[in-house]
Amino acid sequence: MNKTNFMSKKVYTLPIRPFLETRGGWDVSMSNDADPVFKFSWQNTPVVRPDGSKSWSLKPTDFNVFDIREALFSVKDAAQALAFFQAYGPWQINEHLGTDPTTITFSHLARQRDFYQDALLSREVWSIKKASTNEQMRTLLQDWYLWQPLPMEMTFHQPPTVIVRCKDIQDAMRASFFLDRLDGFPWRRCAREDCGKVFKLESKRAKLFCDTDCAHLQSVRSYNERKRAKASAGKSNSGPPQTGRTTRKESK
Ligand SMILES: [Zn+2]
Repeated sequence: MNKTNFMSKKVYTLPIRPFLETRGGWDVSMSNDADPVFKFSWQNTPVVRPDGSKSWSLKPTDFNVFDIREALFSVKDAAQALAFFQAYGPWQINEHLGTDPTTITFSHLARQRDFYQDALLSREVWSIKKASTNEQMRTLLQDWYLWQPLPMEMTFHQPPTVIVRCKDIQDAMRASFFLDRLDGFPWRRCAREDCGKVFKLESKRAKLFCDTDCAHLQSVRSYNERKRAKASAGKSNSGPPQTGRTTRKESK
């Protein structure tokens, strides 16, 4: 590495720990609308200590941002979204350890989920430089949000670690995206049609499936398909035509 005069004389290699820190103790409600609205309220209820005294200070949450992303990517419907919010709290909070979160609809959450999956798969660093259409303007704003510097803190504790504090799920998603693109590995979508999970390609070997279960299931399916194709080909060569396809052929 070429070091400038501004850099420290020592090169440090430090682990990065990105986590979501909110006050915890969130109550989530879901409306009955066609596109459900999720509302959050902070439960300012005291914690009663064993000796009977009360404490209002809830322990802040400490969730790994990659776990949060994994959980969001597996959300398929409103009920799962509710469980997701109950586990991790609001999508967006006004300030760090704030108690004034914004509401969010299910469709908005689904769009964010898809946006981050696509971003991991294909978003370039500053994909466009100038915007002349609305579409390009949107991309430019998204780029600005995604690639803005990620604030990190060095705190004095052993072993030395760099921490990335995220105030809400939105921040956590951005941090997970930023850190995952920083290491330079490409992302792929699982080739099993009914899976479609995105995964990081960390080895040089081309990998089509997200895990061994998907690879196994797909190979069983392909084998069965080949077997069926072979069987039906054998059937049409011998005996009277019975399948729809051969009947159509006959009626011509
Ligand atoms: Zn898969």
